[in-house]
Amino acid sequence: MLSQVVELIENKQNFAITTHARPDGDGVGSSLGLCWLLRSLGKNADFIVSDNIPVSYLQLPGADEIRRVSEINGKYDAVFVIECSDIDRPGIKGLENQIVVNIDHHATSEHFGTINWIDATASAVGEMIYNLCKAIGGRITKEIAECVYLALVTDTGSFHFPNTTERTLKVASELIKAGVKPADISQAIYNSYPWSRIELMRQVLATVKRDKSGKVAWMRQTLEMKQNSGAVDGDNNGFVNIPLAAKEVEAVVYMREVEPNKFRVSLRSKDGINIARVAEKFGGGGHKNAAGCRAEGDWDQKEEEIVEAVIEAVDKANEVLAVT
Ligand code: 5GP
Ligand code: MN
Repeated sequence: MLSQVVELIENKQNFAITTHARPDGDGVGSSLGLCWLLRSLGKNADFIVSDNIPVSYLQLPGADEIRRVSEINGKYDAVFVIECSDIDRPGIKGLENQIVVNIDHHATSEHFGTINWIDATASAVGEMIYNLCKAIGGRITKEIAECVYLALVTDTGSFHFPNTTERTLKVASELIKAGVKPADISQAIYNSYPWSRIELMRQVLATVKRDKSGKVAWMRQTLEMKQNSGAVDGDNNGFVNIPLAAKEVEAVVYMREVEPNKFRVSLRSKDGINIARVAEKFGGGGHKNAAGCRAEGDWDQKEEEIVEAVIEAVDKANEVLAVT
């Protein structure tokens, strides 16, 4: 819990921070924000990740010092593992031999750390890093503010997902007071992609289909599309949300081929539908309206199974609505 994290930081000096593989805005923003916080307290902090950072997040202050590693080397007093459901998600060997501080806002997180601070009411881990800064008596510097703000914006879909709360906007307001320029961060996140994003989007959207009710949409991204568009990591950020722009669409399935016959599945839903329950059926997890899993095998068959399960979840949610 928070008080244990504060005590640990106060009593120790050398820290590493890591987040999940294929890092997203919350993973990168909150990890970098924590890095800046620790350094402002006179501590040493290294941010290590196993994957590339999406180009749009490289504009954050301190992003040029992020180290890409496959194994943890060096003597640390503790390692902060940010936004990970289990100890394997960072994709870094040797973490199991470290004192681990697990910081997450997913209720489904395993308590794999020596210290576990899980706050499922936080819209993003970024919000928790802000709370940590306040609890430890730190000053919200412009660098901390920019990193944490990016975490909030990306995890709340620019403050329009249901996880956006009064507290989220209060924290955002404090971050703006500390020097964040919201338009600059939005520009960096949303309008700084290479053209390959547009090319990939064109191909992925060409595959979109809907069930006969029109409420469930699904689409695909093949390895070939990734290659022939010249896409880089992060170019497909947010694609899964595009079909939700149609009023009648209540859930989306987006399958990406990562190796032949191996897929990552992103699931999204509108407010009344718990899509995490569907992801769990396939060995994944996530939030009520944003979840995912992996899949293997015959693409058509897997897609049909997942789409069927989503249609069932949507039908059930609508039945409940009709009764109440
Ligand atoms: P995305 O679609 O952005 O990859 O993932 C959305 C959310 O689903 C993430 O915040 C993460 O919590 C969850 N998620 C995605 N893939 C997996 C997975 O394979 N396992 C688990 N437990 N959660 C996942
Ligand atoms: Mn998050």
